[in-house]
Amino acid sequence: MSAMVNVVRSFFLVELLSGMGMTFRYMFRKRRTLNYPYEKGPLSPRFRGEHALRRYPSGEERCIACKLCEAVCPALAITIEAEPRDDGSRRATRYDIDMTKCIYCGLCQEACPVDAIVEGPNFEFATETREELYYNKEKLLANGDRWEAEIAANIAADAAQR
Ligand code: SF4
Ligand code: SF4
Repeated sequence: MSAMVNVVRSFFLVELLSGMGMTFRYMFRKRRTLNYPYEKGPLSPRFRGEHALRRYPSGEERCIACKLCEAVCPALAITIEAEPRDDGSRRATRYDIDMTKCIYCGLCQEACPVDAIVEGPNFEFATETREELYYNKEKLLANGDRWEAEIAANIAADAAQR
């Protein structure tokens, strides 16, 4: 009996017509897909993306080289060296993050007393080589300069929960 049903269904192209019917039904519904990379979905202010080192509005680096982020990093991904400046302030002379080790736990930004190291909203930083994922201070500061507006807005949006 089921063989007979299958023959009839095949003869009248039932599967094909039902598939086309479904296609037509979905043609007039709201799209659930995004035309990435031209369209992007919403991101939480707590999204933990690519790292950045921030500056104060004056342009001065926020990082005071206290090394709390280096100490707390469970992946041992951060390396900091520091020296006092002529004016007695303490600043990092070296700030490296090995992004191939990082597990994006966010502990470094939680530990930072001056909101210097943050995980920004950028998730599009795939590279072709490992070397490109060894970030130095210049790269991190450049990230901070590029994403400061979004980072500051995210910190403000999440301030009540911190
Ligand atoms: S996000 Fe976590 S693993 Fe990555 S550098 Fe910060 S503390 Fe280390
Ligand atoms: S980024 Fe923050 S926690 Fe890390 S050394 Fe600089 S001031 Fe300290």
